[in-house]
Amino acid sequence: MYDYIIVGSGLYGAVFAYEMKKRGKKCLVLEKREHIGGNIYTEEIEGINVHKYGAHIFHTSNKKTWDYINQFADFNHFINSPLANYQGELYNLPFNMNTFYKMWGKATPDEVAAIIAEQRKEIKGAPQNLEEQAISLVGRDVYEKLIKGYTQKQWGRPCDTLPAFIIRRLPVRYTYDNNYFSDRYQGIPGGGYTKMMSKMLDGIDVKLGTDYLENREKWRQKGRKIVYTGAIDAYFDYCFGALAYRSVRFETEILEKSNYQGNAVVNYTDIQVPYTRVIEHKHFEFGTQPNTVISREYSEEWQLGMEPYYPVNDAENEAIFSKYKTLANQTPSIIFGGRLADYKYYDMDKVIELALKHVADETN
Ligand code: FAD
Ligand code: UDP
Repeated sequence: MYDYIIVGSGLYGAVFAYEMKKRGKKCLVLEKREHIGGNIYTEEIEGINVHKYGAHIFHTSNKKTWDYINQFADFNHFINSPLANYQGELYNLPFNMNTFYKMWGKATPDEVAAIIAEQRKEIKGAPQNLEEQAISLVGRDVYEKLIKGYTQKQWGRPCDTLPAFIIRRLPVRYTYDNNYFSDRYQGIPGGGYTKMMSKMLDGIDVKLGTDYLENREKWRQKGRKIVYTGAIDAYFDYCFGALAYRSVRFETEILEKSNYQGNAVVNYTDIQVPYTRVIEHKHFEFGTQPNTVISREYSEEWQLGMEPYYPVNDAENEAIFSKYKTLANQTPSIIFGGRLADYKYYDMDKVIELALKHVADETN
């Protein structure tokens, strides 16, 4: 008999299992994929750790979370500084003095602020959608070249129909600072995320290729409590309908050259280019291998059966989610956790903090 049957070997499941094992509890992790790690899984190709489900950069401002994750890996000093390619012109991201200098040839914060102030005049009142929010933050020129096409590709909808908060995730800086994140701590685990996750799950029983929902009764009899990190709508048999997601298709290619684009992440912000960005995986770990591996990312509308990536947190889906959440609250014998069960975009640090909180709730 196990104390916990943990459904999903992603970061939430791994932290929960590690902590419970440390407290002397017996855990079994069920994973429907053929590998551990959930979406942070990396696979070695040509000696390079390839981020199979999208580029993952660990960043946090919470020292405790940073120290926690550093138990399991030696993090390097990688800083995410993506480039934006608009019709062959290169701009630094996030939006900062390097971007503005390239756009307008103005070198001082005062000159840049004056241009943006002039351009934002077209927005009257509080921004009502992503387009208005973007223009009011960085002006129309930056919006047209670096935001409009990229956002429309990523979300499959025009910018004036999207919520303003999506673009507020990105910093706007009047300094020459290309760090995409404002968090205090940042890096990539040496040897890849899969190695890190193996360390977390060391000594814990894991069953791969096993979908909990196909055999719920069997697993319930094997454990005192279930921890579920899969999709919440699937758990309740889609009784209120399926929650919408955006999906991503990755086209991964090995190239017989040592350096393809000179940077880990290059965004293609023109609508005419069908992919949103190109990841060159070796640069996350400053690789010097003779060959290189790149992934082109194509954003797609999600359909049942596809891999869910980004929750579409619009009013309609939030309303459906809250019905599922009510059902989940009425099922106290199951712990629901992680990005799929909460239908939420969580960064990795937030997932760790959530799992640690649930462990504390269980043991206090
Ligand atoms: P998951 O990793 O999805 O794990 C859930 C696991 O449960 C999966 O392995 C799944 O196969 C399994 N499962 C589901 N249902 C069942 C079932 N019925 N039976 C058995 N197993 C099941 N965060 C950052 O901090 N930095 C980044 O740079 C970053 N980049 C991202 C890029 C992309 C494209 C995306 C989509 C996310 C990114 N994130 C990033 C977020 C990060 O991926 C998540 O925080 C993290 O992976 C969530 O872990 P999780 O355990 O909640 O979910
Ligand atoms: N964005 C953009 N141009 C870029 C990068 C981002 O317009 O070159 C916008 C886009 O709307 C995106 C949002 O900023 O949805 C948030 O970007 P982020 O990099 O956080 O997206 P994610 O990492 O989730 O793919």
